[in-house]
Amino acid sequence: METSILSGIEASKALYSSLEGRITHLKNHGITPGLAAVLVGNNPASEIYVKNKTKKFEALGLKTDLFRLNEDISEKELLSLIEKLNSNVKFHGILVQLPLPKHIDSEKVLNAILPTKDVDGFHPENAGLLSIGKPRFIPCTPKGMMFILKHFNIHLNGKHVVVIGRSNIVGRPISILASLKELGNATVTLCHSGTKDLKYFSKQADVLVAALGSPEFVDASYIKEGVCILDVGINRIEKDGMSKIVGDVNQESVLGIASSLTPVPKGVGPMTIAMLVENTVLSAELLLN
Ligand code: NAD
Repeated sequence: METSILSGIEASKALYSSLEGRITHLKNHGITPGLAAVLVGNNPASEIYVKNKTKKFEALGLKTDLFRLNEDISEKELLSLIEKLNSNVKFHGILVQLPLPKHIDSEKVLNAILPTKDVDGFHPENAGLLSIGKPRFIPCTPKGMMFILKHFNIHLNGKHVVVIGRSNIVGRPISILASLKELGNATVTLCHSGTKDLKYFSKQADVLVAALGSPEFVDASYIKEGVCILDVGINRIEKDGMSKIVGDVNQESVLGIASSLTPVPKGVGPMTIAMLVENTVLSAELLLN
C-alpha cells in the first residue's frame, strides 16, 4: 500500500488563502487582528516558536507585538501585564509561550487571560465550551489536525479514532473534537500512560493520533494496515552525530502499511501556527458581530 503524505504546508496554504477575504473584511471595518505574544526568559525553543508565529502574523499584514520579559520576572508582574493586555483593544489574542519559569504558576497565568482573547484555547471556559460541543477557541494543534483531515478528505464519521496522550493541549481536545457529532462523529479511545496493553487499542485504530512525546515510539507493530496516522510529536534527537527533529512515530517503519501519515516536520506543526492566526481572526470577528 502506498502511504500518502498529509502535508501541513499544503493544508496551511489553503487555510491562509481562505483567511484573506476575512482579514480584508475586518480591515474594511477598521479592524486589524492583533496578537500580543508574551515570552519569558531565553528558552531557545520558545524563542523559535514565538518568532515563527509572529513572522506569520506580519507576513499576513496582521498586528503583533512581542513582550519579552526577564527570566526572573515575578508572577505578580506577569499577571499585571496580562491584565493590561486584556484591556488593550488593539489585541484580539494573547499568547503566553510555555513553558514559564518554575517560580511562576503557569495555570494561574493562563487562567488570567480574558477567555475572549484566549486564542490558544487553554482557558477553562474555552475548554468547557469545547467539552459541551459549543467550541469558541479550540486549541491550535488539535484544530489544525481536524483541518488536515478535512483538507485531505479523510472523514471520521463512524471510524475508530485512537488517541495516545491525554494532555489538555493535544490529546484530550482532539479526542473531544473527533467524538463531536457535527465535527467528527467518530468512536474514540483515549490512551495514556496508565493504559494497559496499548497495542491492543492502537491496532484497532482507523485513525491513530500519536501525541505522547516519545521519539519514534509508535512503529509498525502498533498499527493495522490502512490506518491514517497523525504524528503530533516534535522531539529533537541526536542521530548519526547530527541533531534532528523526529515525531512520536517511527515514520520509516509505518510507510507502506499506513494509508496516510502526517510528516515530521511539515505536518501538524505548520497547522498549529495557522490555527493561531485563524483563532485571532475569529476573535476579531466575534468583536465585530
Ligand atoms: P504531554 O507530555 O503533556 O502529554 C503526553 C501524554 O502522553 C500524557 O498524557 C501521557 O499520559 C501520555 N503518554 C506518555 N507516554 C506514554 C506511553 N508510553 N503510552 C501511552 N501514553 C503515554 O505532551 P503534549 O504536550 O501533549 O505533547 C505531545 C507531543 O506533541 C510532544 O512531542 C510535543 O512536543 C508535541 N507537540 C507538538 C505540537 C505541534 O505543533 N506539532 C504542539 C504541541 C505538542
